[in-house]
Amino acid sequence: MKKFRWGLIGASTIGREWVIDAMRQAGGEIASVFSTDSQRGASYASEFGIPRSTTDLNDLLNSPIDAVYISTTNDLHAHQCIAAAKAGKHILCEKPLATNVADARSMVRICKSANVVLATNHHLRGAATHRAMRDAVKAGKIGRPLAIKVVHAGYLPVHLQGWRLTNPAAGAGAILDLTVHDADLMRFIINDDAARVSATVQNSGMAIAGVEDAAMGVITFRSGILGQFHDGFTTKYVQTSVEVHGDSGSLVATNCMTQAPIGEVLLRTSGGEAKLQLQHENLYVRTINAFTSAIAGDGEPLSTGEDGVASLAIALAALESARTRSVVNIAA
Ligand code: NDP
Repeated sequence: MKKFRWGLIGASTIGREWVIDAMRQAGGEIASVFSTDSQRGASYASEFGIPRSTTDLNDLLNSPIDAVYISTTNDLHAHQCIAAAKAGKHILCEKPLATNVADARSMVRICKSANVVLATNHHLRGAATHRAMRDAVKAGKIGRPLAIKVVHAGYLPVHLQGWRLTNPAAGAGAILDLTVHDADLMRFIINDDAARVSATVQNSGMAIAGVEDAAMGVITFRSGILGQFHDGFTTKYVQTSVEVHGDSGSLVATNCMTQAPIGEVLLRTSGGEAKLQLQHENLYVRTINAFTSAIAGDGEPLSTGEDGVASLAIALAALESARTRSVVNIAA
């Protein structure tokens, strides 16, 4: 059978550390990589055994590939996605989909009219921990869900301490980097949409002035469920977690807001405490398999373009809330 052929838009760290390997584990091949820098593109291609590199996006888009993976800085996703859709390529796009909601909505609309699949790489939906929590909530194991709390604070590795801390135009800051993931994950686990957001940010000096390197906030969901998040780049010894509390039970996942297939989930009810059985698997492989299946007409991506619009809207509302010190409503 012919292998699924990928074109990479962006010679990125996330590609290097996770996604290239996941594409190959999922049975795909990488045909070419686009970089704005010919030397960086060529050395990236040679490091990963990718046959071609190019500095011309149209050259990549007109080559025989099935889909592109966009992992450039956040400000570039929208126009690269739209160009790919117009060239008839399916798109797995990194989060946040864009740096404003209007662009993200255009991406979804143009992909629809071009009849290509758009997926958002919210890989945390692929975690066994989070899937088990979603299933348990759906099965009524905690009764009526009332609150969900995500701790996604940690320490930004030194090799990533670049544009995320220094370049607002590229989409810097903890909220567009981390809160956007939390927002998607909360929507996934409790199967609800956000109604309003209230957030506060911190600048501890790691990021430049005006860019938050940590944030806390509350999301009120349409059903009334309260969501709380703590995100940041600056704390080295925090354990990540997701908790969902219902009127007859609680789910507590630890060590789960991560790229690696690890973590555990406890269910606590009147019957005591039990660990949920988990089958850990590579989160990115699962995301890619769902994407390629969706292209083949089987199901939907784990996180669709519409999901990417929703998570971005929540993250941008959090930024606005922090800036204006007010509660910000999310349009339905
Ligand atoms: P990088 O900083 O590694 O890459 C972003 C861009 O920076 C690349 O496209 C590249 O441009 C340029 N670049 C790469 N290396 C250098 C260098 N040495 N000097 C100058 N420029 C360089 O970003 P990340 O991989 O951390 O993030 C990329 C995207 O992926 C973001 O949207 C981010 O939010 C998302 N992300 C998602 C994760 C997930 O798990 N879903 C995890 C991490 C990031 P060019 O392509 O033109 O060469």
